[in-house]
Amino acid sequence: MTSRHTGERIVLASNNAGKVREINQLLATGQIEVVPQRDFDIPDAVEDGLSFVENAIKKARHASSLSGLPAVADDSGIEVDALKGAPGIYSARFAGEGASDQANLEKLLESLKDVPEEARTARFQCLLVYMRHAKDPTPIICQGTWEGRVLFEARGDNGFGYDPVFYVPTHNCTSAELPAEVKNSLSHRGQALQKLLAALTE
Ligand code: IMP
Repeated sequence: MTSRHTGERIVLASNNAGKVREINQLLATGQIEVVPQRDFDIPDAVEDGLSFVENAIKKARHASSLSGLPAVADDSGIEVDALKGAPGIYSARFAGEGASDQANLEKLLESLKDVPEEARTARFQCLLVYMRHAKDPTPIICQGTWEGRVLFEARGDNGFGYDPVFYVPTHNCTSAELPAEVKNSLSHRGQALQKLLAALTE
C-alpha cells in the first residue's frame, strides 16, 4: 500500500465480535494495524442518531477522542421491506436493549410469520466512517448494500446477527452458510471496506 495512511494504527469503534472479525479480515494489512476499542477500555458510544451515517460518525468520533488514534466505525443493520425498513438502525436491539443475536433473529421471524416468500425482500446496509482525528471535518464515508430475502427459518453456523435467516439469491444459501471469505467478497460490509481501502490508498 502506498499512501500517507500507511504504517498506521487505527482504532476500531466496535465491541461486536462478528464485525471486528470481518473488518480485521479485510482492513488489517501489513501496513494498517486495527486495534479494537476494547483494548483501550473504550465503552460503546451512545447510538442516538436517526441514520446509519450519524451513528457511525458518533462511534468513530467517540473512539478517536478516547484513544487519540484515527478511528473506523461501522453502523449497519437489516432493512425489511414488509416492515417498512425496520429494524434498520435498531437491528442490534430489535428485541430490546441488550438483546442477543438469537432473540433479535427470532423476533424478526415472528414479525414476518404471515408474510409470503415473495414479499420477504430485505437488504443489509453498512456505513463505514473513517476519522483521521476526533475533530476531522471531512471523514471518509463509505456505504455498502447487500440484497436478499428473509427465510422462514435459520440455516447455517457462520457469521453473526441475522446471517442465518438472510437468503442470498446469487448463491442459493444463507449468509451463515457462506465461508467467511465469500461473505466478505459479497457483503454490505465487504463492499464498504473495499471502498474505504481504495480511499485510504488514493
Ligand atoms: P450496530 O451497527 O452496532 O448498531 O448493529 C448492527 C446490527 O445489525 C448487528 O448487531 C446485527 O444484528 C445486524 N448486522 C449488521 N451486519 C450484519 C451482518 O453482516 N450479518 C448479520 N447481521 C448483521
